[in-house]
Amino acid sequence: MRIKFLGTAAAEGVPAVFCNCPTCVNARAKGGKDIRTRSQILIDDDTLFDFPMDTYMHTLVHNFDLSAVKRVLITHSHMDHCYPQELCMRGAPFAKNMTEPSIAVYCNATVRDMILGDTGREIRPEIASTVKIKTLHPFDDVTSDGMRIIALPARHTKGEECLVYYVERGGVGALFLNDTGRLDGQVYSRLKAMGASVKFAALDCTYGTGSGTSGRHMGLGDVAEQVGLIRDAGLFARDPIIYATHFSHNTDLDFDGMREKAAELGILVAYDGCTVDVNA
Ligand SMILES: [Zn+2]
Ligand SMILES: [Zn+2]
Ligand SMILES: [Zn+2]
Repeated sequence: MRIKFLGTAAAEGVPAVFCNCPTCVNARAKGGKDIRTRSQILIDDDTLFDFPMDTYMHTLVHNFDLSAVKRVLITHSHMDHCYPQELCMRGAPFAKNMTEPSIAVYCNATVRDMILGDTGREIRPEIASTVKIKTLHPFDDVTSDGMRIIALPARHTKGEECLVYYVERGGVGALFLNDTGRLDGQVYSRLKAMGASVKFAALDCTYGTGSGTSGRHMGLGDVAEQVGLIRDAGLFARDPIIYATHFSHNTDLDFDGMREKAAELGILVAYDGCTVDVNA
């Protein structure tokens, strides 16, 4: 499984759109790995994890064929994870010679309603029919073209069944845990009982070296704690690869500083363009 972090920021981006705080001024001056766009991950060129407003920019910067993407797993309705209006462009006369005839969108009921509502005014009926929405609930276990997808309950926003995901293909299992606060160990035990095995994990680190007192996101200490719970549940495969991602500009350290701190905990720090080949 090839996993590519296309974007690794929280909603505001780093530097944040309207911000001149020291972190953002430093990020603009340094560029490179200190520039973070809204969170999105590409799996094996045919699956996207989340669909932020930066998706179009990601196709330009990382040069991939968005029409070849067969499925999108959307976590929740926040704008940095779901920009449904772009789907209006997925067909003639706006798109021609597309690689795949349709796209499956896995999401919760809130996101389903948001997609239908936000595209409703503009989407052509013949384009709408190629967007196949599949509504999921926590612990739903589905297979799409050889990829196993398990939805998990995130701890994020009230009034919406926010999801995070476990996916598995070719003997490789990967866990994508943003946006979420600390999950209960029972989530991992139940996933283990479903036969999952985690070789790769990417976890929410919105608060940088801070901690997730709000319960909606996590910081490095929370990530380390979650890694312990995953290990306690016997869910890890041998030599798991663990990344922190989804960083806010309120993070107190730049990329190099964060990388040093995380390394002490055996955790890697994602950056835009970071590509990981995960083997069984
Ligand atoms: Zn987010
Ligand atoms: Zn800032
Ligand atoms: Zn969110």
